[in-house]
Amino acid sequence: MNADPNCIFCKIVAGQIPARKAYEDDELLAFHDIHPWAPVHVLVIPKQHIATLAEVGPEHDALLGRMLGLAPRLMKSLGVGNGFRTVINTGPDGGQEVYHLHMHVMGGPRPWSKG
Ligand code: 5GP
Ligand code: ZN
Repeated sequence: MNADPNCIFCKIVAGQIPARKAYEDDELLAFHDIHPWAPVHVLVIPKQHIATLAEVGPEHDALLGRMLGLAPRLMKSLGVGNGFRTVINTGPDGGQEVYHLHMHVMGGPRPWSKG
């Protein structure tokens, strides 16, 4: 699997940094955000290191589809039944802080602390 030794999310994939996992398969990992904005706030990532959505190509279409398709099943499995928000921050102006592609999936009763 393509990994960046300096990347915090690659370290989570490798088990070198602990995370509270919500879902895992061969290609994807979902884990709870360390600073949640909402009662349920999960990050869905590809296990392979892709720095940002700006870098993906057609070869990633299926992977991206799987990330998005996981969101409703994940929210259902975590007891979120009244809607949720999906966000991908991309690049400096997009407010991306961690340069390993990730999709925020947030749900649970409002008010939320952000978003
Ligand atoms: P971004 O601004 O890049 O879209 O979001 C990065 C997210 O990763 C933030 O919501 C932040 O709280 C989360 N995060 C950063 N470091 C860690 C970590 O070590 N563990 C977990 N679980 N979440 C992290
Ligand atoms: Zn990475």
